[in-house]
Amino acid sequence: MSTIFSKIVAGEIPAYKVAEDENFLAFLDINPLAKGHTLVIPKKETDNIFDIEDNEYQQLFLFAKKVANAIKKTVPCEKIGIAVVGLEVAHAHIHLVPINSIYDIDFSKPKLSLSANEFALISERISSKL
Ligand code: 5GP
Repeated sequence: MSTIFSKIVAGEIPAYKVAEDENFLAFLDINPLAKGHTLVIPKKETDNIFDIEDNEYQQLFLFAKKVANAIKKTVPCEKIGIAVVGLEVAHAHIHLVPINSIYDIDFSKPKLSLSANEFALISERISSKL
C-alpha cells in the first residue's frame, strides 16, 4: 500500500515542503483551515499514529515542535493548535493549525483556497524560521 503522503515523500506528487529530515517531513495542507496549516508525517508509512514505535513517536513530536515554533514566528496567531484525525489519509500525521479561536480548528468548516504563490510564500517563510 502506498498512501498519497508516501507519494509526496517519494517526490511522485508535489507538496509545499516546510521541513524535512531523514525520517520526517512537514508540508502545507492543500485544503487548509488557516494560512500556515501544516501536516507533519513520519516518512515510514503507518496508519494509526499510536501504532508508531515509541522512539519514532517521540522524534515525530519533537520534529513537530520545531515546525510549530517556526509557524508561530511566521503567522500572526494566538497559538498553534495541534490535532490528529487521520480519517481521510491512512498515513499518520499531525495537523499544526495557527489559531485565534476554537473555531479556527473546526475541521467541519469551509477550507481556505490559496493560490500557488501564497502556498509557496508561506512554506518558504516558515522554512526560513526553522
Ligand atoms: P485527516 O486524514 O487528518 O482526516 O485529513 C487529511 C488531511 O490531508 C486533510 O486536511 C487534507 O486537506 C490533507 N490532504 C489530503 N490530500 C493531500 C495532498 O495530496 N496534499 C496535501 N498537501 N494535503 C493533503
